[in-house]
Amino acid sequence: MTAPTHHLTDEWLLDYASGAATEPVALMVATHLSFCPLCRANAARLEQIGGTLLETIPPVAVDRNAWDRVAARLDEPAPDAPPVRIGIPGVPAPLAAYLPRGLDAAPWAKVGFGAARAALPCVEHRGFKSSLLRIGAGRGFPHHGHRGEEMLLVLQGSFDDETGHYGVGDVAVYDEAVTHRPVAGPERDCICLVVTNAPIRMTGIFTRLLNPFLRS
Ligand SMILES: [Zn+2]
Repeated sequence: MTAPTHHLTDEWLLDYASGAATEPVALMVATHLSFCPLCRANAARLEQIGGTLLETIPPVAVDRNAWDRVAARLDEPAPDAPPVRIGIPGVPAPLAAYLPRGLDAAPWAKVGFGAARAALPCVEHRGFKSSLLRIGAGRGFPHHGHRGEEMLLVLQGSFDDETGHYGVGDVAVYDEAVTHRPVAGPERDCICLVVTNAPIRMTGIFTRLLNPFLRS
């Protein structure tokens, strides 16, 4: 497997390293890090800078939830640890607790066009939700826009859209300015981890009619 070519921004890595990221976003970042040596190195560098900055500011009272967040981080692989993907085939370590029986056993619900979605038992926080999207091999998901941000991370297969080609481990980030039509590669079904903070907005003439059914 080749290393990812679409990466996380420093802003995301900083949110994650500082514990400020919501659970769905932290899950996305941790999963990308499990694939990406470049972002693991970058996250380690940012943590080091953060640690140095912390030493220069006066101490303040610690947030009650801080220890819980630290304890949760302790269960995650260290930034420079090799990817651990044993146990559940095809499921990166950060997702293992959410998909104990593997990708195929997720609670898939068909949404048409050869695609299916599965919710993840992730705490919705500040409007961010996690789910899985499966697009059949060689099939296209209808052209759509976004009311907020949508982040996709490829777990299996690949897809192409107006913004590029995305393979396993790659992250795609879309905002309200982007409309796109992801098409899965022909090799196998494309499965993505999805984080949204608003429902998608169908833009095709016919698919617009489907909007009311996609607001979950
Ligand atoms: Zn990366």
